[in-house]
Amino acid sequence: MLKLFNTLTRRKETFKPIEKKLVKIYSCGPTSYNYAHIGNFRAYICADILKRYLKYKGYKVMHVMNITDVDDKTIKGANEAGISLKEYTQKYENAFFEDIATLNIDKADVYPKATEHIDEMISLIEKLLKSGYAYKTKDGIYFNIKKFHEYGKLSHIDLKGLKTGTRISTDEYDKQNVQDFVLWKFWKPEDSDVSWEASFGKGRPGWHIECSAMSMKYLNQSFDIHSGGVDLIFPHHENEIAQSECATKKGFVRYWIHNEHLLVDGKKMSKSLGNFYTLRDVLEKKYKPLAIRYLLLATHYRQQLNFSFDSLESATITVNKINDFFRRLNDVENEKSDKILELKVGRLIAKAKKEFVKAMDDDLNISGGLAAFHDFIKEINIIENKLTKKTADKVIKFLKEIDSVIGILEEKEEEELNEEEQKLIQEREAARKKKDWKKADEIRQLLKSGGIQLDDTPSGARWKRIN
Ligand SMILES: [Zn+2]
Repeated sequence: MLKLFNTLTRRKETFKPIEKKLVKIYSCGPTSYNYAHIGNFRAYICADILKRYLKYKGYKVMHVMNITDVDDKTIKGANEAGISLKEYTQKYENAFFEDIATLNIDKADVYPKATEHIDEMISLIEKLLKSGYAYKTKDGIYFNIKKFHEYGKLSHIDLKGLKTGTRISTDEYDKQNVQDFVLWKFWKPEDSDVSWEASFGKGRPGWHIECSAMSMKYLNQSFDIHSGGVDLIFPHHENEIAQSECATKKGFVRYWIHNEHLLVDGKKMSKSLGNFYTLRDVLEKKYKPLAIRYLLLATHYRQQLNFSFDSLESATITVNKINDFFRRLNDVENEKSDKILELKVGRLIAKAKKEFVKAMDDDLNISGGLAAFHDFIKEINIIENKLTKKTADKVIKFLKEIDSVIGILEEKEEEELNEEEQKLIQEREAARKKKDWKKADEIRQLLKSGGIQLDDTPSGARWKRIN
């Protein structure tokens, strides 16, 4: 039985979806005003692990992640760049899809864009106006938080001493600023051509209403899981609950799953400290995407993750080791039958699988899950030279099974060698056959300086590209 920590109740709860075999998940996605930073990708990878593990457990998953392509930040960015909002956001949207493919993040089923769901937002706001939860002022439509007695139930915010009728028009604010929040912002000159007509006045949506409208459109008024970073608990998710539950009179989300912050060298990431990294910044330093993925997933999602280039170095070593092991298994050719070995490998697989599931069932305890995985590899390493093709295939199958959750195996064939490289490897093989070790070594060095590493195995030399 899978247990998940629910921010709403502040405890681990047994997970039970509304529909028996289908899990509906909504994750707050990127705002297309900049390249996403590594902290954003931690959140997307947390959702990815959750989704992959649910599939591993036999559930079908319907995953929706929104794209915020209209809000304060995107409008400001487009104005500063002197281009249309669409042109401006498209660039970052494309970059986002490239980046998630780079990190081997499984795509969501739907990526709704805010600008394509304005009608849904307008009708939600109309409902809230009609039922008295929202009111109109000179600059927009606001949600009256005093009308929703459960306001604060997610963030446990203290509403005592709250003044009635004070309101905040910016999308982002902190707990010190809890006030009525904006649902719709009437057109202002700085919005230039960004506006939509609505029965209550021309303007554009606030950020919070976007997620309520889009999640309920694709996943129904009540759905299973909503994920995002802890920084979204207040006000964003608190406001999503208020808007949705007041409009539908139904419980909005069953399980709220939040991942902790990512720190860089122990400090909060910020441009002024010079420790702010987009994924692209890190890739420029020639790190492997899968090593970055591994580092981002290997800390439990409810713990702060401390990113450093030292830890990225060790993640690189770990990912390379696992992939080298995986490739060696594919090279095993021994066709002999060895019943005792088969039993032993079967036992090791069963034990590792049990430990992996036990850990992951406990609120996705990835550290325990990975420990089971690494211990298994260590045990197989001890008997590696005795492996038969049959046992190696079993191990491969199990590695792939675990990898369906963690996603760090390099399954794709590496790039092809060019003609000259092929010729050099053949020459070296010939030299080795003639026991001309000096020449063989020279060629190996030559290849290495050209970015190719050779490993000699019983079935000949294997090559891989190194940076
Ligand atoms: Zn959201």
